[in-house]
Amino acid sequence: MSNILDCAIVGGGPAGLTAGLYTTRGGLEQVTMFEKGMPGGQITQSSEIENYPGVTGDITGMDLMMPWPEQCQKFGLKHDMVEIKQIRKDGDIFSVIQTNDTIVHAHSVIVCTGSSPRRAGFNGEDEFFGKGVSTCATCDGFFYKGKEVAVIGGGDTALEEALYLAKICSKVYLVHRRDTFRAAPNTVKRVEENEKIELVLNSVPDEVYGDAMGVTGIKVKDKEGNIRDISLPGVFTFVGNDVNNQTLIQEDGSFLCDVNGQGQLIVDLSMKTSVPGLFAAGDMRIEAPKQVVSAAGDGAVAALSAISYVDELLN
Ligand code: FAD
Ligand code: NAP
Repeated sequence: MSNILDCAIVGGGPAGLTAGLYTTRGGLEQVTMFEKGMPGGQITQSSEIENYPGVTGDITGMDLMMPWPEQCQKFGLKHDMVEIKQIRKDGDIFSVIQTNDTIVHAHSVIVCTGSSPRRAGFNGEDEFFGKGVSTCATCDGFFYKGKEVAVIGGGDTALEEALYLAKICSKVYLVHRRDTFRAAPNTVKRVEENEKIELVLNSVPDEVYGDAMGVTGIKVKDKEGNIRDISLPGVFTFVGNDVNNQTLIQEDGSFLCDVNGQGQLIVDLSMKTSVPGLFAAGDMRIEAPKQVVSAAGDGAVAALSAISYVDELLN
C-alpha cells in the first residue's frame, strides 16, 4: 500500500474545517479534507448568522465561512473537491472511496458530512423543484424581488428565512402545520411583528402548481380540510434535514459504525464512534445541537482524539 494519510476528513462544513485546522496544527502531517463542493457547509446558505460568539453584526453564512479554508490550508490541510462514496475499514487501515472509484487509504477518519434539506412531500414539490420551489432563500430569494412567496415550516430555519425574504419580497405567507413554533422565542416574536409576513397556521401545502415557466400558485389545506388558493411564483420549504450517513453504508447494507434510529452516528464525548480510528463530528452525530459553534467544537474534539489515536497506532 503506497501513501497512507494520517487522517482523512470527509465533509468540509464547520466541523470538517475545524477538524482540519486542529489535526494539522496538532502535528498530523498528511491530512486531506474531502469535500464535494465548496468548503463551508450548509451555513453558507443562511442569509443571517444568529448566534455565533463574537459575531454581533449583520453577516451572512457565506461571510462567516469565507476565511475558514484559508486558515486551515496555512497549516497544511489539503482539500480534494470530490464526493466520497464509501468509507471501509480492513484491519487497521481505512479505505475512503471516491465516486470515481479512486481509493485513498488512511489511518484515521473524521466523518462530518452534516445533513441535507428534507422534502415536505406535497404535490408538485419535485416537479417544480428549481422552477419556483427552493430550499435556499439566500440563493433564490432575489428572483422574487417585489413578489409574493410562501415559506413552509415552523423551525428556526423557516422563520429566519421568512424574515430574510420579507426584506426582498412584497409579502411572505408562512405556512405551518401547527399553531406553535419550534423556532427560538425571539425569532418567533420578530416574525409575528413583521407586517409583511402573514401566518397561515394549522395548514399544510396541498399542491404547488404552475406552467412551463414555473410555479404560479399554491393550495394550502387547513385542519378542517378547507383549501386556500394563493397565486404566487415562489415556494420555499424548510422542513428539517436528513443525516448524510450514506458513506458509512457497507455492501451488506449495514453501517460501518453504530447509529441510532434516526441514522445519527453514536459517539462518546471524545467523538469516538464504535469503530477505533473513526470519529464523527457536527450535525450527523447523536444529540447534535445543530449549531455552527457546536459543529466546530466537535471538529476540534474529534481532531484531538484522532491525533492521539494515530500517535498510539504508529508509535
Ligand atoms: P454541514 O454544514 O452540513 O457540512 C457538511 C459538508 O459535508 C457539506 O459541505 C457537504 O457538501 C459535505 N458532504 C456531504 N456528503 C459528502 C460526501 N459524500 N463527500 C464529500 N463531501 C460531502 N447554525 C447556527 O449556529 N446559527 C445560525 O444562524 C444557523 N442558521 C442556519 C440557517 C440555515 C438556512 C441552515 C440550513 C442551517 C443553519 N444553522 C445555523 C445550522 C448550521 O448550519 C449547522 O449546524 C452546521 O452547518 C453543521 O455543520 P457540519 O459541519 O456538521 O455539517
Ligand atoms: P426543524 O427544527 O426540524 O423544523 C422543521 C419544521 O418543519 C417544523 O416546524 C416541522 O413542523 C415542519 N415540518 C416537518 N416536516 C414537515 C412536512 N412534511 N410538512 C410541513 N411541515 C413540516 O428544522 P430546521 O428549522 O431546519 O432546524 C434544524 C436544526 O438547525 C434545529 O436544531 C435548529 O435549531 C437549527 N438551526 C438553528 C438556527 C439558529 O441557531 N439560529 C438557525 C437554523 C437552524 P413541527 O414543528 O410540527 O414538527
